[in-house]
Amino acid sequence: MPHVITSPCIGVKDQSCTEVCPVECIYDGGDMYLIHPDECIDCGACVPACPVSAIFPEEDVPGAETEFIVKNRAFFGL
Ligand code: SF4
Ligand code: SF4
Repeated sequence: MPHVITSPCIGVKDQSCTEVCPVECIYDGGDMYLIHPDECIDCGACVPACPVSAIFPEEDVPGAETEFIVKNRAFFGL
C-alpha cells in the first residue's frame, strides 16, 4: 500500500516531501504533488516532512480524502 498525498497539498506544493523521498517517486501533478503508487517503497519519510500533514499511508487516508487515492493512481495511468 503506497503513501498518498491529499488535499492540504493543493496550493502549497512546498516540495519538502520531494527532498526527503529516497526513491524520488513524488511528482508535480499540477495543482498538487502526487506519489507514484508503484514506485513508493512505503518508507514513511515524507509524512513528517510535510508542513500541512497532507501525506498518509493509503490505508490511513481520512474518509473525506479517499478521492485522492484515485487521483494519485489516475495521474500515473493506473
Ligand atoms: S513513503 Fe517514502 S518512498 Fe513513498 S513517497 Fe514517501 S518518502 Fe517516498
Ligand atoms: S510536503 Fe506536503 S504540501 Fe509540500 S509538496 Fe509534499 S505533500 Fe505537498
